[in-house]
Amino acid sequence: MVIDLHTHSTASDGTEAPSVVVQRAVEAGLTTLALTDHDTTRGWAEAAEATRATGIRLVPGIEVSCTRDGTSIHLLAYLPDPDHPALMADLARARESRETRLDRMVELMVADGIDITVAGVRAEVTDGATPGRPHIADALVTAGVVADRDEAFERFLKNDSRYYVGHYAPDPVRAVELVRDAGGVPVIAHPRAGPRGRVVEDVVIEEMAAAGLAGIEVNHRDHDADAVRHLTALAASLGLVVTGSSDYHGHGKVNRLGENTTGPEVLSAIESLATGSAVVEP
Ligand code: AMP
Ligand code: ZN
Ligand code: FE
Ligand code: FE
Repeated sequence: MVIDLHTHSTASDGTEAPSVVVQRAVEAGLTTLALTDHDTTRGWAEAAEATRATGIRLVPGIEVSCTRDGTSIHLLAYLPDPDHPALMADLARARESRETRLDRMVELMVADGIDITVAGVRAEVTDGATPGRPHIADALVTAGVVADRDEAFERFLKNDSRYYVGHYAPDPVRAVELVRDAGGVPVIAHPRAGPRGRVVEDVVIEEMAAAGLAGIEVNHRDHDADAVRHLTALAASLGLVVTGSSDYHGHGKVNRLGENTTGPEVLSAIESLATGSAVVEP
């Protein structure tokens, strides 16, 4: 079995539609795919429809943006109820705040003479999708300012850039509680992805575990061998499962589907904890 539990589509900042991500997953030889767009369930229906025509299983998920003391934390939520009022209200609030934040970042860049407009950025966002910095990056590519998303992040968009503006996101403990309340299974994403900002401190993961965190995404391209060792031990000491995944974003990132995978016994454990929604079977 080849199980990849973290991917993005045009419902957020991936570059391929949900049905195309499913098709790529088939081509990559996956047996199970989770679609985990940022702060939205919008891609689920299209992905489910596409999955039924294939031999693979679909785990509906969300990558929930959280923040604690200025550090951005990502929480994967598997199989939550997509109609849970409190969770959906929080995600809607984060998406709205992302719109305002995008405008603010563009304003700061325009004031510095960078060739970009709000309309140009909006044109990169699929209707109804969760907007993010990668869409600003795409507008910079379209305008010929940079060659690719990586260069855009390096020069203009990384967390310590002068143009960086944050957006509303819940505290990670509250997010774990919300996901659990929605019948979902919370797994912290890439906690030691240093290149993308400050790492998540162990004490925060301990607090999240006490609130119902189920697992840690340990095997991820942004974790070096030290991070993998450290997080494997931390998961064992807290009784959390260990997952691995690609964090695929289409051609927006080098990450390849199935480059890291999750064990079938871990997926079974996740499924048995979930009461919010069901895996889509082929
Ligand atoms: P945001 O959610 O708007 O704060 O933007 C964060 C998103 O940008 C994450 O989903 C990352 O996958 C993506 N990202 C971060 N760094 C890079 C990079 N160097 N190249 C492409 N995408 C990136
Ligand atoms: Zn992303
Ligand atoms: Fe992430
Ligand atoms: Fe991600």
